[in-house]
Amino acid sequence: MKYVSTRGRAPVLDFGDVLLAGLAEDGGLYVPERWPALDPSVWAEPRPYVEVATDVMLPFVEGSLSRGELAAMAAEAYATFEHPDVCPVSELGDLHLLELYWGPTLAFKDVALQMVGRLFDHELRRRGERATIVVATSGDTGSAAIEACVGRDTLDIVVLHPAGRVSDVQRRQMTTVDAPNVHNVAIEGTFDDCQDLVKAMFADTAFRDRVRLAAMNSINWARVMAQVVYYVTTVARLGRCGFTVPSGNFGNIFAAWVAARMGVPVGQLVIGSNRNDILTRWVATGSLVAEEVVPTLSPAMDIQISSNHERLLFELGGRDGAATAELLARFRRLGSVEAPRTDRFDAAAVDDDETLATIRAVYEETGRLVDPHTAVGVAAARRCRRGGDPMVCVATAHPAKFPDAVERATGVHPALPERLADLMEREERYTVLGNDLRAVQAHVERCIAG
Ligand SMILES: *Cc1c(COP(=O)(O)O)cnc(C)c1O
Repeated sequence: MKYVSTRGRAPVLDFGDVLLAGLAEDGGLYVPERWPALDPSVWAEPRPYVEVATDVMLPFVEGSLSRGELAAMAAEAYATFEHPDVCPVSELGDLHLLELYWGPTLAFKDVALQMVGRLFDHELRRRGERATIVVATSGDTGSAAIEACVGRDTLDIVVLHPAGRVSDVQRRQMTTVDAPNVHNVAIEGTFDDCQDLVKAMFADTAFRDRVRLAAMNSINWARVMAQVVYYVTTVARLGRCGFTVPSGNFGNIFAAWVAARMGVPVGQLVIGSNRNDILTRWVATGSLVAEEVVPTLSPAMDIQISSNHERLLFELGGRDGAATAELLARFRRLGSVEAPRTDRFDAAAVDDDETLATIRAVYEETGRLVDPHTAVGVAAARRCRRGGDPMVCVATAHPAKFPDAVERATGVHPALPERLADLMEREERYTVLGNDLRAVQAHVERCIAG
């Protein structure tokens, strides 16, 4: 399998190169040269998660990994999940819930990153190289990336979080990991400052090459690939069904679109947004108009520029890289652009009041606690659902990851699972640095020197 850039001017690469490259040289995102068709036997009946994962991912790694290598990695990756089904489906009144929060850090990012950490390790070993992963996080990505890298001697990971601006649970999930290759930095600034520092480190080519910088953020194709799997296992369980996905960077719901493109009977696709609703406005009007990011109770979706959306725009524009590049350049310049449209998606924007009301209503009706991101999806599903297919709401985080909002809505404090029960007592380790590129770069070099 070969990969092309959505902006049409980067070298065509195989899977191993795409994995380590992250962003394409022309600023675009890598997508497979063609969409493979899945054999209907893959979703004809429920099968073990690891088997389905191997069948779904194999065509995308063809030429880089053997079936045996891929199956072994998937088996290891998903053994870290607490539920035997890995990504179980349960009932929630007249909806279903796809529970993606049984991994090490209690959010859906584990599903992809547990696989991606092993893919990186394998590829770097094959090349006899080491790499440094640098990640900016507003909460969930940092801990999931740390858990993907911890203890691997091919990787160092440095995570930048904005000091005082992530929740206690989220910070402690990162800073209590005690391993020589894990380095946490609190930046005196905002999440955007952290992200700008990471971008500046990648733009400094001498530095990038010296520390062999690599990215595990959500534009990495391997993350999308690993996320396709749970849409297939859900269809195997329920038959044709629709999905509602609480969306930020558009990676998760794009994976559902990919499953459909591979021939899997996926019904309605509903995008759930919080007040940062650029995607919902795009579905309604065809225009992409960026606005100020506003903080909400579902912080992992506080995003105005959804990076993975570019992959869909490339498809909708007939896979014309030059046209996609032009569209994105105009968007960056003007902050607003007429984009290709599709009626494949429905969408709803849900504000904080409705999010809290939904958490409360779900608790009263079913006795279950859902986190604020999942609640955005449930509210969007109720508003947009049509037709008779089952509707599956994608549950992207465990309620205990966002205890304040859940308690505010229901009066119930959601408990952390057993294995994290002592999180608040564990010792934290992190370095505090100013918003200063040179100081952060010097720190990264000290970290990897040991
Ligand atoms: C990352 C995240 C999302 C958004 O997913 P995208 O793939 O960026 O659309 C939603 N909910 C939670 C809990 C997340 O961590």
